[in-house]
Amino acid sequence: MSDSNKIEVGDMVQVNMDAAGMNFIRGDAEVLHVPQATGDSWHFKTSEGVIIYTNEPITIYLRSKAEDKPGFDMVSCSQCGCGFGPGENGYSHCHDHQGQKVIED
Ligand SMILES: [Zn+2]
Repeated sequence: MSDSNKIEVGDMVQVNMDAAGMNFIRGDAEVLHVPQATGDSWHFKTSEGVIIYTNEPITIYLRSKAEDKPGFDMVSCSQCGCGFGPGENGYSHCHDHQGQKVIED
């Protein structure tokens, strides 16, 4: 789950340089990496596909959050063939989906 109060990887942002007050990334950019420690840099991907690393003092405006969408619209079990709705991965055996609600059988 993403946190709507944080800028996280996958979010779309607008990046402004603090000092100059001007945009050096035109349009929205996707966050590829959020600095985890001093000296670490932000990594962005612009709408033109340009990869930018920056340690500059910047202001980052959150434009839109990455969607919390699971990997598949419908995951299923290889053993019984039942479907379980959206999820990251399917199941190999029935004991892997014990307690899961069957959507399709
Ligand atoms: Zn099963």
